[in-house]
Amino acid sequence: MRTGVYVCHCGTNIAGTIDVHALIGYAGSLPGVALAREYKYMCSDPGQELIRQDICDYKLDRVVVAACSPHLHEKTFRQAVEQAGLNPFYCHMVNLREHDSWVHADKPAATEKAMDLVRAAVRRVKWHVPLERRQVPVHAEVLVVGGGIAGIDAALTLANAGKHVYLVEREPTIGGHMAQFDKTFPTLDCAACILTPKMTAVKAHRNITLWTYSEVRQVEGYVGNYSVTVRRKPRYVIEKLCVGCLECIQACVYKQAKVPDPFNLGLSKRKPVYIPFPQAVPQVVAIDPETCIEFKSGKCKKTCVEVCAERNAIDFKQQAEIQTIQVGAIILATGFDVFDGARIPYYGYGLYPNVYTALEIERLVNASGPTGGEVVLRDGRKPASVGIVHCVGSRDLHTNRYCSRVCCMYSLKLAHLIKEKTGADVYNFYIDIRAPGKAFEEFYNRVAEEGVVFVRGKAADVYPAGNGDGRLIVQAEDTLLGMIRKIPVDMVVLATGLEPRADANDVRRLFNIGCSGDGFFLERHPKLAPVNTFADGIFLAGCCQGPKDIPDTVAQSGAAAAQALALIDAGVVELEPNTAHVLEDACSGCKTCLPLCPYSAISFVEEKKARINEVLCKGCGTCVAACPSGSIRQNLFEDEEIFEEIDGLLASAAVGGGPVRIQGDL
Ligand SMILES: Cc1cc2nc3c(=O)[nH]c(=O)nc-3n(C[C@H](O)[C@H](O)[C@H](O)COP(=O)(O)OP(=O)(O)OC[C@H]3O[C@@H](n4cnc5c(N)ncnc54)[C@H](O)[C@@H]3O)c2cc1C
Repeated sequence: MRTGVYVCHCGTNIAGTIDVHALIGYAGSLPGVALAREYKYMCSDPGQELIRQDICDYKLDRVVVAACSPHLHEKTFRQAVEQAGLNPFYCHMVNLREHDSWVHADKPAATEKAMDLVRAAVRRVKWHVPLERRQVPVHAEVLVVGGGIAGIDAALTLANAGKHVYLVEREPTIGGHMAQFDKTFPTLDCAACILTPKMTAVKAHRNITLWTYSEVRQVEGYVGNYSVTVRRKPRYVIEKLCVGCLECIQACVYKQAKVPDPFNLGLSKRKPVYIPFPQAVPQVVAIDPETCIEFKSGKCKKTCVEVCAERNAIDFKQQAEIQTIQVGAIILATGFDVFDGARIPYYGYGLYPNVYTALEIERLVNASGPTGGEVVLRDGRKPASVGIVHCVGSRDLHTNRYCSRVCCMYSLKLAHLIKEKTGADVYNFYIDIRAPGKAFEEFYNRVAEEGVVFVRGKAADVYPAGNGDGRLIVQAEDTLLGMIRKIPVDMVVLATGLEPRADANDVRRLFNIGCSGDGFFLERHPKLAPVNTFADGIFLAGCCQGPKDIPDTVAQSGAAAAQALALIDAGVVELEPNTAHVLEDACSGCKTCLPLCPYSAISFVEEKKARINEVLCKGCGTCVAACPSGSIRQNLFEDEEIFEEIDGLLASAAVGGGPVRIQGDL
């Protein structure tokens, strides 16, 4: 065996804590090691070239790279080894950085640990066998889940590039939260004017199949070859027959709208037959069976059916439809939920009628909202003073520790709009103003110049002024003046933060991806793979990955679309061979492994022998560990490799007498 050991300094990340010179001296003395080198950045071109050259010059047949996490550079080094003519799986990485130098401060002890890790790797790598990667063809279609601005933008990008997209939206219309806004910061351009052309483009695009009021129920398969089951809920209106004339809504026997309208957050009412908002896409009504008299009692006069007699679009017997599609890639764009203001009781949301959330104010300032764009209190009066409380459900140890990133800016926007519409005195109670985007600081200055007051202090309490007119006191410690302030206002607006969707965990499980500590979907790497997930072929766009504003959302959806496109256009996908396989002669057919496989990769051949579909297998090792007869093995995790590695770790560090040590002096 002729093994080359390469130790990376990673700048000072590794070399600052581990004595690299001592380490390569030690590695060079290990049995089977032909040479040991160090270099500042082994992942750089010269670092890789060093490995390639040594393989040729010194006839190396195994390579150990002691550097950072294999997540980052395993591919890089395997590729370098392959370019030098060696099977790439003869290369093994030791994670010196995350497993050693970053987690220890004691240099001698860290160096000793590094020696143990390198010794273990040198012993393991000699058992490596050559493996081949497999190629499988990729379906050219893409599924986008969620029709907010992120999903809309990703779908259009892909469709314009000639790919067929299935856009699945849970609600009866696409648009997401952006459809609820009147203006957007910092430019104050009309949200509907920039959003609705995109919504109609989605509906009209020949490369997009739009399924609203639908949800993904099952996802099977693997990168390039996902089989997805979608349930299309009955809206009791035949989509292709409805022309959106809305006459059924007028004809509904409900004389007045009685059902709280979720699109207006309950600030107005709607009828059981409804369209979510005037520019909804598709322009198709839906019937809510929970409130429709026909569904509840079967005794409705069905005037809606009468007015629609010509088109006959209303169908009370409509059933849910199940569709199964094959797609190569999936983009998740399921967005966010707004923090429930009632979770912080001392702000009085749900208790005092004049406490609103920011999203409610978005609807009030909207020309197509419940008040036609007037900012009025529930009794119809215009507020003369308004307090906006920042960071509600963000930057708070008791709720969410993270910053929701958009609340400062939308609070400034709402302060401007409220002042413009009512002339009220507007007070912002803030911890600090976060305005780091393009033209954000300028917008902040503009709003301040308009006379909006900024009180630096987190609001501690909201309570009635006590004179029975609904006025409220906002109490905060003004940390600039060093005094407690109690400011009477007519209206309080809570700048509620952005949270993961309530069902984020279910969706995570469905698509087999991860969530970070805050509950948002987890990206593969925060810097280098911000739209990828740990499931190959599944990408993230928009606020489902974390709070962000519309420009960042659109930038991210473009990136996700580009990743999906790159995957599909490659035509094939290479599968890593670190999968499990069955030694059929030894398999007793006990089926212990069958229910354990999270990827449904195991089947039984004539009910006697387990067989693993290597394309579905992700190499998690669950079946390998569970197999009572030891007949399931896993490439790169063969027993010999694992036991040698353990033996290597436990062996004494005093193994001297090795052959060559070449000091890297490049
Ligand atoms: C009060 C407020 C004001 C704001 N004002 C501004 C502003 O002025 N400017 C700005 O840049 N940003 C603003 N933002 C931020 C902005 O709302 C987001 O950047 C943007 O909405 C993110 O879009 P999205 O598509 O990721 O998510 P969403 O808008 O939440 O859309 C997600 C979509 O996915 C659907 N969905 C969810 N789960 C599923 C599922 N399982 N299956 C199918 N579909 C699903 C939802 O129904 C929804 O249609 C504001 C945010 C708030 C709360």
